[in-house]
Amino acid sequence: MNQTKLKYLQDFTLLESVSRVVETSQENERNVVILDETIFYPQGGGQPYDRGIIEGLSGKFAVEEVRFIDGVVKHIGKFENGVLNTGDEVKCLVDSQRRKLHSRIHSAGHVVDMAVTSLNLNWVPGKGYHFPDGPYVEYAGNLGETDKERLKTDIENLCNKFVDENRETKLLLIDKEKMKEVCHFVPDYIPEDKPARVVMYGDFGVPCGGTHVGHLGDIGHMTIRKIKSEGENVRVGYDVDRIID
Ligand SMILES: [Zn+2]
Repeated sequence: MNQTKLKYLQDFTLLESVSRVVETSQENERNVVILDETIFYPQGGGQPYDRGIIEGLSGKFAVEEVRFIDGVVKHIGKFENGVLNTGDEVKCLVDSQRRKLHSRIHSAGHVVDMAVTSLNLNWVPGKGYHFPDGPYVEYAGNLGETDKERLKTDIENLCNKFVDENRETKLLLIDKEKMKEVCHFVPDYIPEDKPARVVMYGDFGVPCGGTHVGHLGDIGHMTIRKIKSEGENVRVGYDVDRIID
C-alpha cells in the first residue's frame, strides 16, 4: 500500500481538510479507515494521537485512535452512521481542543529542552512523555550535588522567559545529513518511513515530527513539577496551565 501523505507534518494548523478513502477494513472488531493524506496526528514521539470525524456523502466515522504503521496512517474507530467506500471524497475534522492541549504540552517539552541547553548542564536529550497525565522529558546525565529546588526554579524561570519571548515555530523539511547543522542534538535513530523534519525556535532546532503551537506564547504559563534521577537519567517533570485565554 502507498504511504499516507502526512499533511500535519507540513502544516500543523490544519484542523479541517478534504481527503480520499484508500481502504476501509476491520481489525480486532474495530473499523479502520485509510486515506490518501491525513491531518490526523498518529501517536508517536511521546505525543498522543488526535481524535475527530471523517465524513463523506455515505457515512460518518468517529476517529477514536490514530496509528502510524509502516508508512500508513490507520484511523481507527466506529461508524456513527452509514459507511465509507474506497474512492469516496471525505471531510476530515480534528478535535481542536484535544489537539490544542497536546500541542501546548508537547511544545512545552521543547521549551524545557531550550532551558536545559542554555543552562549548559551537559545532559543528553532522551525520551519525552507529552501526555496530559504527567508530562516529562528525560536526559542521560546526573544531578550530582545539584540543589534540585534551585535548578527547578532556574529551569522554570527560563521556560517562562522563552514563552514570554513568544518565538515562532518554524518547520524545516531537510535531509537527515543536514540536521546536525541546525540542531544542538540529533538522536542516532531518525525514522526512515516519514519525511525528515526539524522544528526551529530562533536558532534552536530539534528533529521532531509532532504538532506544535504557532508561537511559544500560545503555551501559556509553565511549571516545573519535579526533577529527579531515574537510574542513569534525569527526569524533568513539567506542566502547562490547563485553562488559558
Ligand atoms: Zn516537537
